[in-house]
Amino acid sequence: MQFKAILGQEAVKAHLIRSVEAGRVSHAQLFTGNEGVGALPLAIAYAQYLNCPHRHQGDSCGVCPSCYQIEQLAHPDLHFVVPVNTPKGKSSGEKPLSSRFMPQWREIVTRTGGYFSEQQWYEAIEIDNKQGNISTFEADEIIRDLSFKAFESEYKIVLIWLPERMNVQAANKLLKIIEEPWEKTLFLMVSESPDKLLPTIVSRTQSVNVPGIETEVMIDYLRRQGVSEADAPKMARLSRGSLLEAQRLVASLQTNEHQASFDYFVQLMRLSYENRHMELLEWAETVASLGREEQKNLMVNSIRLIRDSYMMTAGVSEISFLFGKEYDFCKRFAPYVNNSNVERLVSEMELVIRQIGQNGNPKIIFPHFALTISKLIGPLKP
Ligand SMILES: [Zn+2]
Repeated sequence: MQFKAILGQEAVKAHLIRSVEAGRVSHAQLFTGNEGVGALPLAIAYAQYLNCPHRHQGDSCGVCPSCYQIEQLAHPDLHFVVPVNTPKGKSSGEKPLSSRFMPQWREIVTRTGGYFSEQQWYEAIEIDNKQGNISTFEADEIIRDLSFKAFESEYKIVLIWLPERMNVQAANKLLKIIEEPWEKTLFLMVSESPDKLLPTIVSRTQSVNVPGIETEVMIDYLRRQGVSEADAPKMARLSRGSLLEAQRLVASLQTNEHQASFDYFVQLMRLSYENRHMELLEWAETVASLGREEQKNLMVNSIRLIRDSYMMTAGVSEISFLFGKEYDFCKRFAPYVNNSNVERLVSEMELVIRQIGQNGNPKIIFPHFALTISKLIGPLKP
């Protein structure tokens, strides 16, 4: 992986490159950053840069044997340690070690460019609802790997993804390794929750803070995904610098259920302010026939749209998180939501969520709900 394949993070890249040029390569480094900001691909690109004999113009060459092997995540001097567990259907007697999961690791890193969540990783290795961890056996394995000399490269590198998944014994073993640096050996840790690490580990590593992806870079990325000029800045803000979050938002624009939920909300509000009772009851009948999960999502989305419309009325539309059709509708709808009804509207929707959760009868819940909403919206002609 080359630096140029990573979205934004120009300041971090420049910092890493400078430290190599100045010969200040610390033997234990802790990359910290939230999910989706690119801390893992940065650490891999850094490993590739360090071991490339032909690095130039602030990047590894990408074509030499060392670069090629790291691109394939199959370099003999680059070891990955990642949280794992026993896959479903396998005997829990065997000790699950990272090395057994390298085919899945190569697949997910290559497919996503290094941007994936911890959950996606657990799905890839099919450990069901179990959490992964880094065991003491893994720490023993690291020591064993390090006792061999580097095969061919300048640095032997151990990259530990999510060190916060180490138990205390494993962390203490690792600490001993870090405390007595091995010649030409680097530890790169990539953490999403450094607060969960042993303070002694944090204090013995040099930290590389990876912030959110730059807003301008994210806007540009979203436009290239086909998001409109108007929506891209809002979605960039909503993504909070996480590429994964941005990808989820783009996907949500395309899912049918999200669209259906929005359509039901719009119908309910239109029929309410036009006081069309017969059609409101038809609306209630349709919604009552949906699945409970979908009904709940409809209410959750409705609460969000009501709150954001209210913020527009209150003149704070710049903190609204709406975009696309939702934004267009709520801008026109906003005058109907104000101090006199916003609390009641939200509490009626919350009531429905509770009633559905308690297995109430939707054929009774929704007609009552629709008529109540119509009373709250109807009389207010702005
Ligand atoms: Zn190279």
